[in-house]
Amino acid sequence: MRKPIIVGNWKMNKTCKETVEFINAVDGELNDTCTYGVAVPFTALKDATATAKNLIIAAENCHFEESGAYTGEVSIPMLKELGVTHCIVGHSERRQMFAETDETVNKKVRKLIENDITPIMCVGETLEEFEAGATETKVRKQVAEGLKDMCPKCVAKMVIAYEPIWAIGTGKSATKEIAESSCAIVRDEVRKLYGDEAAESIRIQYGGSVKPENIKEYMAMEDIDGALIGGASLKVDSFKAIVEATK
Ligand code: 13P
Repeated sequence: MRKPIIVGNWKMNKTCKETVEFINAVDGELNDTCTYGVAVPFTALKDATATAKNLIIAAENCHFEESGAYTGEVSIPMLKELGVTHCIVGHSERRQMFAETDETVNKKVRKLIENDITPIMCVGETLEEFEAGATETKVRKQVAEGLKDMCPKCVAKMVIAYEPIWAIGTGKSATKEIAESSCAIVRDEVRKLYGDEAAESIRIQYGGSVKPENIKEYMAMEDIDGALIGGASLKVDSFKAIVEATK
């Protein structure tokens, strides 16, 4: 049985003070049916890991080199030192605005696994690709390239988030059938590349305008093992309502 994983992606939101207040308000309200977490800005990671007892704390990005002349970047050992256990990689906002490629995603994923941090690797198609019927080709390519040169046991530990770009921050969520179909494609590609055990163990999230009102229907689908949530993860009440809906 795969334990579902629900992670709030705060993006460029919340100061350290706001982070601590949020975590103190929700950390005692979780239950054991799912793993719950938040991905917070680099600046708030230290306070977040020091405050959270139950929530898992994720970074939103990392660099694949251990150290060096990369002004403004943060390495994986730096995250590890803060007690970070998960890290988002290849979010579409980073692919679109900060030149993230499948190749850099793969380097980051492999380095995170080496350091025992769980990657949450994001994939998903644009609206144009969706309308052209190119979702499957795009998603299979992103999965295959992002997971290049890994071992099946490493892949088994990962999380992949399927986030159609047209559903992110738009309020226009994918239907549960579309979300399920794409998550099943992700699992099938993992099976093709790394076999049954990796495919059955890897957790696949849906992301894109997930909220308390619709999370249940996604979670009921066979290949959806949780959600990556932006806007609806920012408010305590809404986060608590998501926890409540997934009990
Ligand atoms: P929204 O939930 O705000 O659509 O954002 C989704 C997302 O990008 C999570 O990574």
